[in-house]
Amino acid sequence: MKRYLLILLAGAFISQGCNHVADHLSNETAGNEKKSDDFYHYSIWTALVNKVYDGNLTVAEGKTKGDIGLGTFNGADGELIMIDGVIYHVPSTGVVEIANDSTHIPYLNATFFDKDYSYELSGQLNYDTVRKMIQQHFPSRNYFYAFKIHADFDSLKLGSLYKQDKPYQQGLDVLMPNRPKFDHGPVSGTMVGFYCPDFIGDINVAGFHLHFLSDDKKIGGHVMEFKGHQFNVEMDKLASYHLVLPEATAFDTVNLEKKFQYGKK
Ligand SMILES: [Zn+2]
Repeated sequence: MKRYLLILLAGAFISQGCNHVADHLSNETAGNEKKSDDFYHYSIWTALVNKVYDGNLTVAEGKTKGDIGLGTFNGADGELIMIDGVIYHVPSTGVVEIANDSTHIPYLNATFFDKDYSYELSGQLNYDTVRKMIQQHFPSRNYFYAFKIHADFDSLKLGSLYKQDKPYQQGLDVLMPNRPKFDHGPVSGTMVGFYCPDFIGDINVAGFHLHFLSDDKKIGGHVMEFKGHQFNVEMDKLASYHLVLPEATAFDTVNLEKKFQYGKK
């Protein structure tokens, strides 16, 4: 009798457990199918600083690592921005195109965006004030965050990169101050990107790193400065970091001696 009761009880617990798992899974897969809550990172920031501009990740593979993201293309050929699973290329001309699946990527940050927090920021704001306000919404500054931020911009300064020829002469610390810059506005669009805590060191950009794509998908690039209003911020807290080092000749042999940090705190 006692044994029978125990079995019955165990049965009750198991079925309860199963129901719970089923509920949990249906929540997680509700809407679009969720593949991972990782911050996927191909290569490291300091590799770009030390001229590792060639990787062997393809655009087609990159799209399996997330549905939002940012980075660049082999040869430091402009800016990469991924939104809704599409990878866009903004070359030094500033004209947005959809990247070819076979194009190679030396550096990528990506995640399957899974909104944990959302809020509006109102008033006339610039990049500094938006960063400060977003940090006030962080539940903690010790995690990674991914963002989708839609806004109406009165003015927006975007940057790209000039494609480099081999053998590469300049690190990103030199390319960035001399990058092609574009002044736009008024324009509506979405910024996507990431925040990394300072402890990330030389592995990634410490602070905020955002790329932009306009609603009409004609204008894009690396976000440098802006003024705007009606900021709709969606935030995904990421506690898992998936670092993949490029198994490419350029990375095999590089001496990662040069240091340069860029992040917008
Ligand atoms: Zn960038």
